[in-house]
Amino acid sequence: MERILRYEKKYLTVYTSNLCILIAYIVLFFNDIKEEQMFVSGITIIVIMYISTIILYNLKFFNNKHVFVFLKVINLFSLGLMFFSNIIFILVTVILNYILICVELILVFSQEDSRKRNTMFLFTLVPIMMCSIVMWLTKDLYTIHLLFLIQFSVILFGIYKIIDLNGDEMREKIADGIKLWESSQRSNQELLLTQYEVKAAYQQMEYQKKDMEQTNKTLNRITSEMYIQNELLRYIGSTLELDQLMDLVTDSIIGAIGVDTCSLIIHNIELDKYYFKTKTNYNVDVEVQLKNAFVNGDLSKYFAEKKPHIDSFVDNTDYPFIQDRPVGSLIIIPLIRNNSIYGLLISEHAVAGFFEETNLQFFQSIATQINIAVNNASLYTRMEEMATKDGLSGLYNRRHFQIMLIDLFDKIKEDGAMSVVMFDIDKFKNVNDTYGHLFGDEAIKMVSRITQRYAQSYDGFAGRYGGEEFVLVLPDHGLQETVEIMKEMHDELKKEPLYYNRDRLVYINVSIGVTAYPDFGVNAEDLLNRADNAMYYSKEHGRGKITVDSTNLNEYN
Ligand code: GH3
Ligand code: MG
Ligand code: MG
Repeated sequence: MERILRYEKKYLTVYTSNLCILIAYIVLFFNDIKEEQMFVSGITIIVIMYISTIILYNLKFFNNKHVFVFLKVINLFSLGLMFFSNIIFILVTVILNYILICVELILVFSQEDSRKRNTMFLFTLVPIMMCSIVMWLTKDLYTIHLLFLIQFSVILFGIYKIIDLNGDEMREKIADGIKLWESSQRSNQELLLTQYEVKAAYQQMEYQKKDMEQTNKTLNRITSEMYIQNELLRYIGSTLELDQLMDLVTDSIIGAIGVDTCSLIIHNIELDKYYFKTKTNYNVDVEVQLKNAFVNGDLSKYFAEKKPHIDSFVDNTDYPFIQDRPVGSLIIIPLIRNNSIYGLLISEHAVAGFFEETNLQFFQSIATQINIAVNNASLYTRMEEMATKDGLSGLYNRRHFQIMLIDLFDKIKEDGAMSVVMFDIDKFKNVNDTYGHLFGDEAIKMVSRITQRYAQSYDGFAGRYGGEEFVLVLPDHGLQETVEIMKEMHDELKKEPLYYNRDRLVYINVSIGVTAYPDFGVNAEDLLNRADNAMYYSKEHGRGKITVDSTNLNEYN
């Protein structure tokens, strides 16, 4: 409808101009018009046609295409009635207006399909045909009129075809345009699709990149962890030194994991001694802080908790062993053996949230390896003990004692001093015979215990030299000093009660021989012989005595 109104607007200019011309005509030729009936009716029809069209245009043809077509057909019929007017002005006006309306209708329908267009064209001829038939019936029509009618139709047909040809070209162009638009639309869509695919591929690549970065990180971590584990394994296999192992563990963890501080506390159960090892990137004595915390019992809760402790947002006030250094993350791994905690592995990092679940697995595997190493070390200590110490008394065996004595003599022989004491339980055979061997063993243990205590008190060492024969060495002690100490020890031994069957008290006595270097002796063996001689002297002279070495071995008291 919009289109029709657009066309009609152009036509209205023509109509209005024509109306003006008609009015001018009427004014100028008013007298002639008055006399000619044909003239009057012709002009009236044309004026009505123009005016009705102007009015209906302003009403927008009631927004109805049919109203427009109907009006045009009525117009054509009205003009058809005037078609064979013998007044030249009317005739020309009618023909031109008829053609004008036909052209408008053809143009209006130019966008319909060809069948509709053709029908429309034929339809434009209907009014003139019908009017002609009416005129023919009223015998007003002559052959010349018929020829004119045919000629008019042919011209109209020609106009229709020219407009239609132009329309065809337009339609072709439009079709081409549509095709072009469709193809560009298609390629646009393809482009969008490609763009989407590229975006998706890019995103996929981003994901893969992230995955690879993650894998790389994990691989790096696993590599350094494996390196440490390998180093530790190698080391564990080659050393039994706990201190060196602690050194390697703390060093490796700092190097490979990148923590700032790593500490290790290990309790040597055999020696009942705690070992501390700390490595740190800060200029702070972390080991002292850790030892203080340990002594103050601040670490006891970690020695009681059997699971790892991870703190990703460390508050220094919660950990007394963290002073003067920034710590964001902390991990404490308990070292467990035979279901009890014997140590702690502590790692710190300045950044919060540094330790993850994956680190935990690594630390736990390190803990397992430390366990193996500590086990090996304690097995070794026990084996060493078995090889150097006597099982019953816990004192050094004769062989090892001799080695130690030779070593000490070599050290002090130039300008040092030492004393050697040998003693033997008196009438021990009787003890065995009277109370049995087990009781005899208890007596040996008692003498050993007291001897060991004296040896430790004076930084010396003691050995079981024979069945019930003992030897004691006191470095840096002269003859007289040692005699005083031996008097004390002898008193203690004599007075130490032994219970037989829990109700019978038994006491034992010993015969003692004392010698000392540099007063006597030229080497370790000589010293042992001299001490033995002195002891023998005690045995020979009443037992239960102390004999001090002398050039002629005089009896002491
Ligand atoms: P003396 O005063 O002359 O030294 O007399 P004695 O009986 O102590 O000396 P002797 O050498 O005749 O006897 C030593 C005894 O010590 C003989 C042996 O059965 C006993 N004996 C040696 N080693 C052990 C041991 O490990 N346990 C027990 N119960 N007895 C032992
Ligand atoms: Mg004896
Ligand atoms: Mg003996």
